[in-house]
Amino acid sequence: MRLSRYFLPVLKETPAEAQIASHRLMLRAGMIKQQAAGIYSWLPLGFKVLRRLENIVHEEQVRAGHIPMLMPTLQPADLWRESGRYDDYGEEMLRIKDRGGRDLLYGPTNEEMITDIFRSHVGSYKDLPLTLYHIQWKFRDEIRPRFGVMRGREFFMKDGYNFDLDYENAMHAYNRHMVSYLRTYERMGLQAIPMRADSGPIGGDDTHEFLVLAETGESEVFYDSEITGLKLGDREIDYDNWDEVAGICTEWTTPYARTDETHDEALFDAIPEERRKTSRGIEVGQIFYFGTKYSEPMGAVVTTDTGERVPVHMGSHGIGVSRLVGAIIEANHDENGIIWPEGVTPFHAGIVNLRQGDAETDAACERLYAALEAEGLEPLYDDREERAGAKFATMDLIGLPWRITVGPRGLKNGVVELTSRRTGESEELAPELAVARLR
Ligand code: ATP
Ligand code: MG
Ligand code: MG
Ligand code: MG
Repeated sequence: MRLSRYFLPVLKETPAEAQIASHRLMLRAGMIKQQAAGIYSWLPLGFKVLRRLENIVHEEQVRAGHIPMLMPTLQPADLWRESGRYDDYGEEMLRIKDRGGRDLLYGPTNEEMITDIFRSHVGSYKDLPLTLYHIQWKFRDEIRPRFGVMRGREFFMKDGYNFDLDYENAMHAYNRHMVSYLRTYERMGLQAIPMRADSGPIGGDDTHEFLVLAETGESEVFYDSEITGLKLGDREIDYDNWDEVAGICTEWTTPYARTDETHDEALFDAIPEERRKTSRGIEVGQIFYFGTKYSEPMGAVVTTDTGERVPVHMGSHGIGVSRLVGAIIEANHDENGIIWPEGVTPFHAGIVNLRQGDAETDAACERLYAALEAEGLEPLYDDREERAGAKFATMDLIGLPWRITVGPRGLKNGVVELTSRRTGESEELAPELAVARLR
């Protein structure tokens, strides 16, 4: 992409309404625009990051054997009357009437709708196990929308639902979700710690939240520092192997890690003092097992191999995709702007032309641009007639991991400058070598 033809409305001023770094930087970098409290347009740069996160979520869900689909944002109230949640959900639910006077709602989550889909089409144990998911906009009329996309009212969420014959199978689905979530966050350059949680309005027995450590997080967290050393890395995972998947979950849930809601002083005090950590965290996902809470009242039953009709065991599992954009920035920025982890960056590298209009410099930038694209990389070429300082400031603000600076002086010696956004270190090298380095 050439910056002269892109739409990147960066702001010079720091917006007064933004209290935390990610919100400030997303506004300044032209990633989002607020349209109403907690409701945002995703401008091209923000949209690109959102799509990258969405793709990572899809890839890891499909890898775990979960099936993508899409449900609507609007739901009929009657489904929620069946589960009893239409009245229970309260003010966070946005209720709407259509022209025929029928009650609709903008879905805050989809347990009822997915249970309805299941009961309409599945009737036998032979069709289990089954996990369906979608990534769709949700609406919750939060009392205090704040921190930009971190607590929006309209937000983008992956929610998945497992249907299993019994508790043991459902627990395998639960574990599969835990592991696939750990992989997802790791690919985004984040460490999200699973913490035993309270079940809240979705209801249930087993539940873990995933928290990213950050000073601006809304939850207080207590953990054993041992857990921050865990990494999945390139580990091959066989999601059909119950023991293997359960083993990874045990590894990640054995060191103490809880939020203030479930914190247990006595257990915490038993950890050696130097490993006892208190911090704040951002909730970026949650998994639940809730058994037959919806399948019973809504009649989602299957016939077993002995001909018995039993309600299915279910769980639901969510990742806050739009919140993650903010969480990643909270964990990756400095005073000059964002520092994207390689796995989620909107463009792989920026090209800065120090002398726009100089035939040789322009030609070198064009060659570099083509060479990066030929490698399957996506460069952002700052080809505007701007001062070098302004171009650098924009690149620092939008946080691409690499900047390639091209100017007449370097070209005379056959080199360009490759700069790492994270370390600030620069190196002069031939353009082909710079491309090879980013490969
Ligand atoms: P919170 O405690 O922050 O209100 P929640 O526990 O109500 O979140 P869940 O029902 O567990 O949220 O939804 C799954 C995920 O969706 C959360 O872990 C979070 O990452 C994301 N999420 C929830 N509410 C919002 C929101 N208002 N804005 C952005 N993301 C959200
Ligand atoms: Mg909430
Ligand atoms: Mg919560
Ligand atoms: Mg939650």
